Amino acid sequence: MLNTVVRLAISILSSLNGKKLFILIYHRVFDEPDYMYQGEADKKEFSWQMQLLARYFNVLPLSEALRLQAEGRLPSRAVAVTFDDGYADNLYNALPILKENRLTATFFIASGFLDGGRMWNDSIVEAIRAAEGETLDLSGLELGICEIGTPEQKERLARKLVGEAKYKNLSEREDFIAAVLAATGAKPDGDLMLTTAELLQLYHAGMEIGGHTVSHPILKTLSDAEALSEIATNKKILEEKLGTTLKVFAYPNGKIGIDFLPKHAELVKSLGYEGAVSTEWGVNSPRTDRWRLARFTPWDKKPYKFLLRMMSMYRQVKS
Ligand SMILES: [Zn+2]
Repeated sequence: MLNTVVRLAISILSSLNGKKLFILIYHRVFDEPDYMYQGEADKKEFSWQMQLLARYFNVLPLSEALRLQAEGRLPSRAVAVTFDDGYADNLYNALPILKENRLTATFFIASGFLDGGRMWNDSIVEAIRAAEGETLDLSGLELGICEIGTPEQKERLARKLVGEAKYKNLSEREDFIAAVLAATGAKPDGDLMLTTAELLQLYHAGMEIGGHTVSHPILKTLSDAEALSEIATNKKILEEKLGTTLKVFAYPNGKIGIDFLPKHAELVKSLGYEGAVSTEWGVNSPRTDRWRLARFTPWDKKPYKFLLRMMSMYRQVKS
């Protein structure tokens, strides 16, 4: 039965024409599955996914895929694999698997976290992971007494807190995170992000690097001058480090109308980028606006489901 499904999925995928582009989105590749980061890949999962892509799809760096699509020469079953933010595990866990399968991916880097930074959401997640006991008193944040007795409860609470903090302005968010850390008694430390030397290793291994702002703000919450500075400074810093020109950009958080607006797409365009990705769910046709390209996360835990997902996504084209 399974083999029949896989064969059918492959034969349908093989018949798809060359006009649409899949863009997959990853953040982390963990050593082992991590209950606090549901939906993120671990090495084993990433490995079979890349094997499937290498076998049945044509994987390209994003900027090359966009160029070929514009020229009407995109190969059939074209896929761009993308990573957001700049985690060190991208170099240590993802790169060896990409190389094993002779694939090139595109990495969008928030340059403010290179060389010793960490993203605020990871501080929240690690604080909740480290919290002891059955409950956590977050009444100071008007969240009451929260259950943290099981891994599921911890994961759910961390996700809720990250969601709450995301749209606060910088100083409110810092206060919120300080209150979470104080309630848990945890002091998360340790660098999770790439250093400049590690970023260079990734680049010199043939991977494409793209822009993702300096400090990963929600662009919509910034003034126009701040948004321009975040996007332009990030591009300049990365280009100086790499000695190349960045061609593609990813909007932080990436929801159209919620996290960024058409004016931010105009800014990105004016800085010489060639395309930009959102986190809207979908597959891209030649008609898709290249300043708000759609992506999706392959979350399936079984290869045949992954193939079926790719097939069904193919029919949901953004225009
Ligand atoms: Zn990001």
